[in-house]
Amino acid sequence: MVQDIRQKALRELPQIEELLRTSPLEQLCDALPRAMAVQAARDAVDEARQEMLSLLEHGKNGACPVQVDSEAIALRAARLALAAARPSLRRVVNAAGVVIHTNLGRSVMAPSAVEAARRVAEGYSTLEYDTERMARGSRNDHCERLLCLLTGAQAALAVNNNAAAVMLVLSEFSKRRQTIVSRGQLVEIGGSFRIPDIMELSGAHMVEVGTTNKTHVNDFKQALTDQTALLLKVHPSNYRMTGFTESVSVKELKALADKENRYRAERELADSAKQDQRPWKHAASRDVLVYEDQGSGSLLHLSCFNDYAEPTVHESLREGCDLVSFSGDKILGGPQAGIIVGRKDLIDRLKANPLSRALRLDKMTLAALEETLRLYLSPERALREIPTLAMLTATVNDLRPKAEQLLAALQAVVPSKICSVDIVEEVSRAGGGALPMCDIPTLAVRISFIVGNALDCERALIQQRQTPIIGRIKKDSLLFDVRTLAQPDEIDLIAKAVAEYFEKAA
Ligand SMILES: *Cc1c(COP(=O)(O)O)cnc(C)c1O
Repeated sequence: MVQDIRQKALRELPQIEELLRTSPLEQLCDALPRAMAVQAARDAVDEARQEMLSLLEHGKNGACPVQVDSEAIALRAARLALAAARPSLRRVVNAAGVVIHTNLGRSVMAPSAVEAARRVAEGYSTLEYDTERMARGSRNDHCERLLCLLTGAQAALAVNNNAAAVMLVLSEFSKRRQTIVSRGQLVEIGGSFRIPDIMELSGAHMVEVGTTNKTHVNDFKQALTDQTALLLKVHPSNYRMTGFTESVSVKELKALADKENRYRAERELADSAKQDQRPWKHAASRDVLVYEDQGSGSLLHLSCFNDYAEPTVHESLREGCDLVSFSGDKILGGPQAGIIVGRKDLIDRLKANPLSRALRLDKMTLAALEETLRLYLSPERALREIPTLAMLTATVNDLRPKAEQLLAALQAVVPSKICSVDIVEEVSRAGGGALPMCDIPTLAVRISFIVGNALDCERALIQQRQTPIIGRIKKDSLLFDVRTLAQPDEIDLIAKAVAEYFEKAA
């Protein structure tokens, strides 16, 4: 009986050919490759089938047959076909006020970095060619000297992203050996990066110490064994613990590692004197190393954020880290990359690890990264030309002209009878694991609705635009934070999209 109803309902679904002859799709078939329209029709029917089955399953329509709305399926197919025909990875307008927005591509790159990437993309390049020696060169050379200059490190290596950097360091130095880490720092970042998972994948044995809110240097000391390879510090990127908390400083970890390493060296000397053991090939294989995963990794001290300012890479190295790793596209403001800086003997070992070949950067990223790093040679220039830094450090006064421009553009296109528009003081966020909890005062342009509503308008601006516009809803109004507007044409794009929404809503 139930089976009969099911079969009968499913038979009512339109055939693909039938669907392709309906008006919304037939028109599209002229403009789009047929295969695309067919795929869209199949997907729309599949969706309808799934929906029908789930309705039948949950019994609501167990007794009466489920209605099939062929017209709705055809419309859905047409929308899917249109969506498939335009590029999937497109530009968006970020008016959400989150500067390093991971879902929206993190950092916007400096114009000169974009230009550098374009140049190496459209022609051949010195990617692995040394013009001085007229011989094969290394792709690592382009950024290494700059990174050393900017961080005070002896050596540097850039790989695909910081998750890859962490993986590489753990795998090289801690495979089948122990890494000690504070329980308070076993973080998850962006839903897909968890320190314990990376640890397991790398073959490192994780030793957790301390409690969620407090870890003392003594916890590390008591966990130290002959098998300890790394003392790991992880930057708590996307949260801050406040109140009754304590974490161990790099200085303390370094002092502990130094003491242990002296002890290991002395013991090795004594053992080799007794000739019952061969010494380690590298001191680094014997030593305990201090490694910090800085996450965002700032090259400049952003004093405008006071106590929220992140420690710089330079500071962590000076305090005694043997290695520090950080992202290229977070606060640095460059392309996606994972940068590792530190002792030369350790970086040399990372370069020789086959994983670093698997995780290497491509030429466009290297060109953009090199150019971004060059901008840092003059801090004023970096603050001015690297959009991530310029956006993060813009004051409310700096933002006022842009807010007034957007306000005027909106007032020009929407009559005051259907909505009211004004400028409000709001807060932006750094995002990307940088400066968590830091409220950055900003200006936003607010639309309060008389006709239509914020949810519908938000949907229209995201779903129905060639260039989607991402704002923020607060109470019943829609906000556009001007801090994260990246291009001069974005004010017009917002005004045009809002005007079209109201034309349809009215
Ligand atoms: C963001 C982050 C990572 C991951 O970096 P990706 O460049 O996104 O791979 C790792 N560790 C910390 C502490 C982070 O904040």
